[in-house]
Amino acid sequence: MKKIARFIILISGLLISATASAQTTAQNNDPMGGEEWGHSVKHIADGVYVFRWWVYRNIFIVTDEGVIVTDPMNPKASKLLRSEIRKITDKPVKYVVYSHNHHDHISGGNIFKEEGAKFVAHKNVLKQLGDHPNPVTPLPDIIFDDSYELKLGGRTLGLKYFGPNHGDSLVVMRIPEEKILFIVDIVTPRRVAFRTMPDFWPDEWIRSLKEIEKMDFDYVVSGHGPANQPAIDPASVVKEQRGYLEDLMAAVKKAMDGGMHSPDALQKTVKLPKYKHWRSYDKWLPMNIERIWYFYHMGW
Ligand SMILES: [Zn+2]
Repeated sequence: MKKIARFIILISGLLISATASAQTTAQNNDPMGGEEWGHSVKHIADGVYVFRWWVYRNIFIVTDEGVIVTDPMNPKASKLLRSEIRKITDKPVKYVVYSHNHHDHISGGNIFKEEGAKFVAHKNVLKQLGDHPNPVTPLPDIIFDDSYELKLGGRTLGLKYFGPNHGDSLVVMRIPEEKILFIVDIVTPRRVAFRTMPDFWPDEWIRSLKEIEKMDFDYVVSGHGPANQPAIDPASVVKEQRGYLEDLMAAVKKAMDGGMHSPDALQKTVKLPKYKHWRSYDKWLPMNIERIWYFYHMGW
């Protein structure tokens, strides 16, 4: 009980500090350098940490028998991550878990491979990396199809595949003891969808979120978020993400059903004032609209 109580207090603190800094808006003008945004480590539960580099995040779990790391991001970030882990423990990284196949999240694992880590991913990651290899992205050693339970030093990290949604290899990770989910790319709290929604199937995305909502969890760590966003959010952010997508699709469909078929006109006309305060609303909403126009226009 003591552990959970301390954890809840920690979360409340993070949420309060996030609200206080919500007015801070910083422009993202450091595409892959990361120095402007820096990096940070937040301790969110016993042995569980969130590492942030620029707008990317992962979780790592420290146990008596070694460390489980997720998404190493890139060589620059993984070097920083390893030095942060060294400040906490001298145990080796035993496992690296990939959330999905995209290079921007899973590159840079070589330094963990060198210390003997085994790499874990959905089976389609192996195929994707075979088709699109990257010298700084080690191939997975352990692959699975529907789900997998990774165990180390008395801790468990559950991995679950929900079918295609963002690519066809994305897994949601669950720490059962504290009921925390680590979700990459398909849930980014309080931000509209990324640009033109690359490699996202909008309908499958919504279906997957509905299935995720049925899981047993209280908290979400998302794979993206700048320094002024909390490291951990309440479970409700999954439903909020689905609500945004459903509202976006309904608004585009309504305009198209009303006779508007030009994506340029749709971009200028369709608004979602309910989400005006979400990050990147002005810049990316028109791109989100174009992506949904493709969906209804082409069935893609
Ligand atoms: Zn991705």
